[in-house]
Amino acid sequence: MSARLLDGRAVAEEVLADVAARAAGLPRPPGLGVLLVGDDPASALYVRHKTRAAARLGFVQRQETLPASASQAAVLAVVRAMGEDDTLDGILVQLPLPPQVSRDAVLDAVDPSKDVDGLHPLDAGWLSQGRPGLVPCTPLGVMELLRRTAVPLRGAEAVVIGRSNLVGRPMARLLEGADCTVTLCHRHTRSLAEHVGRADILVVAAGAPGCVPGAWVKPGAVVLDVGINRLADGSLRGDVAFEDARERASWITPVPGGVGPMTIAMLMRNTLEASARRQTLARLP
Ligand code: NAD
Repeated sequence: MSARLLDGRAVAEEVLADVAARAAGLPRPPGLGVLLVGDDPASALYVRHKTRAAARLGFVQRQETLPASASQAAVLAVVRAMGEDDTLDGILVQLPLPPQVSRDAVLDAVDPSKDVDGLHPLDAGWLSQGRPGLVPCTPLGVMELLRRTAVPLRGAEAVVIGRSNLVGRPMARLLEGADCTVTLCHRHTRSLAEHVGRADILVVAAGAPGCVPGAWVKPGAVVLDVGINRLADGSLRGDVAFEDARERASWITPVPGGVGPMTIAMLMRNTLEASARRQTLARLP
């Protein structure tokens, strides 16, 4: 069996069209603040993709760039200023940050109502209790892709590889919230192959190219490859051995063109939703 491709680019376009339509109904356009610290080319590329998507949707934007030598105080000052800027509904701090800047201190300083990356501990706490809040964009994008497969999630065995706050942890929580039975695997997991072999839904976010061989994949599984790894020849590779895995899976995401475009689309959706909530609150007596 050859798996059907989950085309993240096409689904992302549909999500963006819906965001544009809903944004047009708001009294003022949503606003997104983006902070880039340093000159890491991959981070600069991600920021360009995000600001391009926001520009296409007519969002207000404020982009700040600080040098790699910036102090923690300077980074915090920008994040707080964005929090006080009423034209902005979302704040995105592009990660990673340079070593002299505490990532936790910076994420804690993001106004939780503008936390469109869902990384503030308050938002993570709301998610862990299954309460409404802003959810990290990549796992949200994976859930949207899963929805498009129409594969039933209730009672399904879901295996997530990777336990970062950005992807793996919120991913596991969302799948559990969708009534899957979830196993969260990581670097120290024994018998990774056995866990993977049980998975009806497999999400891999390890950042280790080809760490899941195709032969591990359960026949008929839905495989979502979050990994983006740049190889020495400049090409991009996922965490799953794509060609072999697609012979066993029922659905699979390509890399690139799978989860990546969904992350950006969900960032736009989170910004829209934060904006709608803030604009409604502003109108209350
Ligand atoms: P991270 O380094 O913070 O976390 C990686 C996790 O994977 C850790 O929990 C680690 O224990 C686990 N891990 C690493 N190697 C493993 C292995 N061989 N076997 C089992 N577990 C292993 O990374 P992250 O920020 O969560 O990102 C993971 C990958 O996803 C990276 O390739 C990153 O570029 C990619 N990513 C993609 C998107 C997207 O939009 N597609 C968004 C965020 C991250």
